[in-house]
Amino acid sequence: MKKTLTLLILFFVLFSCKNEENVSENSDKLTKTKQKAEPNFGIVIHGGAGIILKKNMSDSLENAYKIKLEEAIKIGHTVLKNGGSAMEAVTKTINVMENSPLFNAGKGAVFTHEETNELDASVMDGATLNAGAVAGVTQIKNPINLALTVMNNSPHVMLSGTGAERFAEEQGFELVDPSYFYTEKRFQSLQRIKDKEKAELDHDSKVSFADDPFIKDSKFGTVGCAALDKNGNLAAGTSTGGMTNKRWNRIGDAPIIGAGTYANNATCAVSSTGWGEYFIRAMVAHDISAMMEYKGVTLQEAAQEVIQKKVPDLGGNGGIIAIDKDGNVSMEFNTAGMYRAHMNAEGDLKIGLYKE
Ligand code: ASP
Repeated sequence: MKKTLTLLILFFVLFSCKNEENVSENSDKLTKTKQKAEPNFGIVIHGGAGIILKKNMSDSLENAYKIKLEEAIKIGHTVLKNGGSAMEAVTKTINVMENSPLFNAGKGAVFTHEETNELDASVMDGATLNAGAVAGVTQIKNPINLALTVMNNSPHVMLSGTGAERFAEEQGFELVDPSYFYTEKRFQSLQRIKDKEKAELDHDSKVSFADDPFIKDSKFGTVGCAALDKNGNLAAGTSTGGMTNKRWNRIGDAPIIGAGTYANNATCAVSSTGWGEYFIRAMVAHDISAMMEYKGVTLQEAAQEVIQKKVPDLGGNGGIIAIDKDGNVSMEFNTAGMYRAHMNAEGDLKIGLYKE
């Protein structure tokens, strides 16, 4: 009798435990469904790729980059969290980096051969495939805002030079004095390249961008952002000072839709940074989107193929940041490092500078 009673109690205890498990499993499922019902969103940024090595970086400079990347991405994340558009998140985030001398965009832009600063920027809206870009502007504090205005308030996609600035004035932009873009660090970089160039010319050797490791890595620091908003819309933007010592009104990939920037709600939003000439030839940003669209590969597979194979096979280097329509991100680069950060809907923040 006692034995039967013990067995009965044991059975009862076991049964109620199983039930509790079921209840907690079910409530787990419920929370997950609830979480899923919340619209997804996310944001990813870069501050340029290149020879970014821990051994060349002081703790304070490393911290300065991390702080600025965090400040920038959090601005965009807040926009998205509050239901704002991907495009608003992209431009506001880029503004923070354009206003910082740490990056080669806006304040902090690199110098041309003539010791001026010529800025390029572009944006693309994945919902409409609308796009705007400016190239070679010298008096626009935040070129990304002008690119957006070209998209919204002109019948064109790309404006350049003084014409773009006339349009800016008509649109109520305040033009800044070109001296606003002066930073000692960038000016000294230009002088170093010029000295090197002169030394090579004096020795009658051929100056080639392709073979010079210093020139090759002196151009990075562009900024870019890609975002997915709660309405499922994607947007991307890129802003840069281009390449140190550039001449002849050289324009890189940053303002070229499909090379430096691309966004399509059906696939992904991408911003590039790297050796612009190669990124134009490989049509990097659009190529990633097209591989997803036509080949059905994932964002990461497409990004890897383009950044680790197509671009280096041509002889170029650099990286991209991108986000797809489901919020998956890629931060792919073939250089030593890339300033980058990602924040998802839950607010998890990842910041990276070097290879992992
Ligand atoms: N892609 C830019 C250009 O070639 C440079 C960079 O990414 O830093 O103008």
